[in-house]
Amino acid sequence: MAGRILIADDVATNRIILKVRLSAASYNVSHASTQTDLLELAQSQQPDLIVLNSSFQNDRGIDLCHDLKQNPKTKTIPILIIASDLNPAERLAALHAGACDFLENPIIDKGLLPRIRNSLRVRSIQKELRLRRGTATELGFQEPAAAFSHPAQVVVVRGAISPDDGWITTFENTTPCTLYHFSPAQVLDQVIQQKINPDIIVIAPHAEHQSDGLCLLSELRSRSETRRAAIIIVDKTDESHQGVSAFDLGANDVVPSDIPKAEFIFRLTRQLERKKKADQLRNTLNDGLRMAMVDPLTGLFNRRYALPYLSRVAEKSKISGNPFTVMVLDLDHFKRINDTYGHATGDHVLCEVARRLQANLRNIDLIARIGGEEFLVVMPDTGIKSARRTAERLRRITQKSPIKIPGDAGEISITTSIGVSVGGLDGKFPADVETMVERADQALLGAKSTGRNQVTMGQSAA
Ligand code: GH3
Ligand code: MG
Ligand code: MG
Repeated sequence: MAGRILIADDVATNRIILKVRLSAASYNVSHASTQTDLLELAQSQQPDLIVLNSSFQNDRGIDLCHDLKQNPKTKTIPILIIASDLNPAERLAALHAGACDFLENPIIDKGLLPRIRNSLRVRSIQKELRLRRGTATELGFQEPAAAFSHPAQVVVVRGAISPDDGWITTFENTTPCTLYHFSPAQVLDQVIQQKINPDIIVIAPHAEHQSDGLCLLSELRSRSETRRAAIIIVDKTDESHQGVSAFDLGANDVVPSDIPKAEFIFRLTRQLERKKKADQLRNTLNDGLRMAMVDPLTGLFNRRYALPYLSRVAEKSKISGNPFTVMVLDLDHFKRINDTYGHATGDHVLCEVARRLQANLRNIDLIARIGGEEFLVVMPDTGIKSARRTAERLRRITQKSPIKIPGDAGEISITTSIGVSVGGLDGKFPADVETMVERADQALLGAKSTGRNQVTMGQSAA
């Protein structure tokens, strides 16, 4: 994943060494040696990552990180801090200032690139989320709900030797969460059995068997139940080989086992916030797409979904040579139901009719609500005879037993009229699927005008 990286360091040799390493990994590297350069280049170049030495400009690295994060033009650029000797309080201050991560100076080769790749990955995910959020808003989908709707599900995986668990109590006290503790051998089965939907998985395996943790990490990433969880690896040493590959295997964060508690909580909370934001956006998009295709009252597809579907059925019919059927169903004298019992009861009747119709069709058939009390049925591989038979069955099933009104308020009898049109007979197809629907509509009008509660077959050939 190539990207543009801005290095901010006042020591020329540091800049050169880093530039050589990053350029060798195909990154597009520029550098700043003064505060003005840094702020200007960050704005004008919009790098994908800033690598900032904490001692930059007389130890002002963390202040500058804060300034960049406050500036609307640069606040989304991730900043990786390079530091020789940050104490726990300074590390925490850097995270609060907006740094995405740290690297210890002197930089160990193995630690550098995976952390850079991870920072860039986070950056590109965030960019994509912003883009999707923008698209969702443009499409008129609702803003994602701001609050977390459920307590965070946190799974802690521990080997024989437990790391310091002091963070667990603090985390529990500060964040609404449900904690689960499993051994590496149990976790996959237990997550499935207990139907846990983890937001975060902390893997702190037996220090001597760190590679087990990595196998588990790739397993967890590949399972549908856990692939969206944020996974944090607690590693024996931050820059060990294992820690390095953990990022590339999909860890969201890798922390040393002696990480200060406050820093660990900060990192956990940050992962949780990212995960929740992504979930909220995904749900908004799913809800939005569903709402664009599904009738909210009956749960059936709507016209917008049904017509392109019908086109695909027609295309398949051209290939297979099998005919297909379109029906338009309209409830008889439905207005009277509204007028007599009220709109809410009318809605109840619509839902019950929708349920009956759907229950009496094959899985491959599509039923959609295309108007107030009008339904469209599309049946692939269906010729005149079975079209008529099915339409008759649907008509009977609507009429057969009266529909109970909720609250023991009596029963309502309802009938339906159905117009049917069959396409693809003898290899003849109408010019477009709208014509098929029009023909079914014409047939429906015939059914209405000759007494209702009946099926009328429309013109079938092209
Ligand atoms: P016909 O037998 O000729 O089809 O008569 P009808 O009364 O069924 O047809 P008309 O087109 O005169 O009336 C349809 C009624 O459907 C009018 C409208 O109030 C009602 N309607 C449309 N959408 C809804 C809905 O979502 N809920 C309810 N309860 N009623 C609806
Ligand atoms: Mg009607
Ligand atoms: Mg109608």
